[in-house]
Amino acid sequence: MIELVIHGRGGRGGVTLAKLIAGAYFGLGQHAQAFGVYGAERTGAPVQAFVRIDDCEITVHNAITAPDHLIILEPSLVAPELAATMSPEGWIIVNTPQSARDLAKFLPGRNVATVDANAIAVAKHLGSAALPIVNTTMLGAIARVLGIEFAAVEAALTGAGFVGGNLVAAQEAYARVITETEPGTAVTIRLPVLPPPVGFLDARVGSMPTTRTGAWASRRPHAHELRPLCSEGCPAGNDVRGFLQAASAGDYDRALAIILDTSPFPGTCGRVCPAPCMSACNRKELDDAVDVRDIERAVADRGLWPAASAADGRPSVAIVGSGPAGLSAAYHLARLGHPVTVFEAGDEAGGVLRTGIPEYRLPRSVLDSEIEFITAHGVDIRLGRIIDRAALEDLSRDYAAVFVATGLQERRSLELHGDSSGIVGQSLEFLAAARDGGPDLTGQTIAVVGGGNTAIDAARTALRLGADEVRVAYRRTRAEMPAIAEEIEEAAEEGVLFEELLSPVGFVSGDGGPRLVCRRMRLAGPDESGRPRPVPTNGGDAVRELRCDRLLLALGQGSDLSILPDGAAAGPLPVTLGDTGGSVFLGGDLVGGEGTVTAAIGSGRRAALAIHEALAEGSDPVSADGAHGDAALAGAEVMHLHSFSPVSREAVSLLPAEARRTTFAEVRQGLTGAPGHDAAQAEAGRCLACGMCTGCDTCVVYCPEGVLHRADGQPPDFDYEYCKGCGLCVAECPRGVVFTEAI
Ligand code: FAD
Repeated sequence: MIELVIHGRGGRGGVTLAKLIAGAYFGLGQHAQAFGVYGAERTGAPVQAFVRIDDCEITVHNAITAPDHLIILEPSLVAPELAATMSPEGWIIVNTPQSARDLAKFLPGRNVATVDANAIAVAKHLGSAALPIVNTTMLGAIARVLGIEFAAVEAALTGAGFVGGNLVAAQEAYARVITETEPGTAVTIRLPVLPPPVGFLDARVGSMPTTRTGAWASRRPHAHELRPLCSEGCPAGNDVRGFLQAASAGDYDRALAIILDTSPFPGTCGRVCPAPCMSACNRKELDDAVDVRDIERAVADRGLWPAASAADGRPSVAIVGSGPAGLSAAYHLARLGHPVTVFEAGDEAGGVLRTGIPEYRLPRSVLDSEIEFITAHGVDIRLGRIIDRAALEDLSRDYAAVFVATGLQERRSLELHGDSSGIVGQSLEFLAAARDGGPDLTGQTIAVVGGGNTAIDAARTALRLGADEVRVAYRRTRAEMPAIAEEIEEAAEEGVLFEELLSPVGFVSGDGGPRLVCRRMRLAGPDESGRPRPVPTNGGDAVRELRCDRLLLALGQGSDLSILPDGAAAGPLPVTLGDTGGSVFLGGDLVGGEGTVTAAIGSGRRAALAIHEALAEGSDPVSADGAHGDAALAGAEVMHLHSFSPVSREAVSLLPAEARRTTFAEVRQGLTGAPGHDAAQAEAGRCLACGMCTGCDTCVVYCPEGVLHRADGQPPDFDYEYCKGCGLCVAECPRGVVFTEAI
């Protein structure tokens, strides 16, 4: 950036000169900014104008205090103080009949160029002899010294309507500023630095007043970092703001490293997470929440996965269950140096990620590579090992600690009247069978009961296995369904029909086959979960029948606590086993909670840290706190959202609905973007960076006292000797970083 300060006297065209210089550079394709210091100056009083030139957008708008070049329109203004803070390499271009050498005693050691702009302007009838208007003349001289082609000067003058004498005067100055002293070169006079003479300008001009005005303040501004709502809302404990900022800088390796600090499943969560971070995102108050989920997926795809480190001989830990909770605990324990063995009842690792969530949402290759990353840390997964109570006691003897994350193994069922033999099944068993090719449902009519992810997955899977018609019956309305909203929409796009406010009660035989009899429901006041309570309706149309060759139940699951000692309650605290005295920690879906992958990952991580701390015997505990400690929250109320412009969300590609019905290929393709456009980076750029100083300098620009400074990469620093506590910095900080406190 080039910064120029023009010193002149009121009424002589200094501000116009600033605009003309800006115009000349603008014509050369540069970004330019010009403004004057307006106040109550009378004609003849000293005034200043500022010009900024850059090859990118100029976002700073405050006064220039350390210019590159100085323009002095009036010889009587020449004084050493003017040049005190300017660049030592910069030019001082003075309107004076004197030579540069004559000015050396005022401007020692400086590059000085002079031009008698008054004489040129008067000869061209610009102003009068008493009050010459020298701006267009000076433009010519400035252009020559700063290396601007005269064509650009001519274009700027013509564009602004300054033709005739103005143009000729500029041309003459363009020639004379050079030739007057040393032909062929700019006038560079480097003289020894002389002690500054007593200037005729007040030495205090431009410096801080002698009165310490900070003493008047009743409040003082400070800067602090706040906790962003996205990170706060992430049950896995991810530093969401941190990885979005890295991705917005195109640094996918750093973004991945940030996620892997808390979760080994970015590719999985980037596909199936309900993304509570997005529900919390402040950006939704402005336009749309940042698409964190798809950015996480892009980070997993593009970031460099680091090499795993091996265990270093700390006490070994057994884990029961290889779902996201068990594997997350295994990963973190291994990183903390514990040898870990995972015992899994099934024939593949991954828990519900493997057996429940269908391929079209989470491809096996993604899950496989994340599990491989975990095992690369030395985690030993033993498949086909059902752990019962006796086996758990053995584990508690053989290992220093045990973590049990067996998920929800009990399926809820439904009492149905009539003949339902061979028709009713559990959605989870259906989904597990579907991963091996599943039953052929060609020509069948399928009903699914429930409103969660399992119900929607079962319905969409049934379509893909050839069903003619699939209906999801739910006792509340679609709006109350706990399944991920996008999954419900995608199911509807694929042709799944939603039957709201219906509760199945039995079967009857009909002409075309079995019919499911459903009770119609209505919504009453909230139940203990806060959702509207479904209650049966009465009257003529209280019952509805649906054609149904197969009914899939998705009514939720419960914990199977038979593995634990009698009387043990499912909670995250360690359970002490009677015989062995061993500590058994519980986590994931088994102990309740949100029932999401991200919550299971977070639960596994917290368990790992608790186990490590319990076994660490005096070594430093590792904090399970998020990346931002216990700082205050950066809610929408502390943000100044008016400072940001709306930016549309980047589009996510999806397979066309028709194509999806016949294939288990992945539906969502992520932030693919047009060729040459990094959609993930652009989407991450929509992150408002709530609660962190991004160095935008809005506070610096708005500070009316000039008492706010900021070094590169640092939050602002306040000069309390002069800060009157006006609070403008607080009112304008876009991200709520600056706040005031009473003194
Ligand atoms: P699980 O994933 O259930 O893993 C438990 C593991 O323990 C299993 O591998 C099991 O075989 C093993 N195990 C059980 N008993 C024993 C034993 N006695 N000995 C040895 N091993 C044993 N959440 C989301 O966030 N997004 C979604 O899109 C989503 N979709 C879902 C779709 C379906 C169909 C289902 C059922 C759930 C979905 N969820 C979703 C919820 C999410 O999958 C679970 O919250 C999460 O998997 C729970 O993780 P967990 O490790 O606690 O248990």
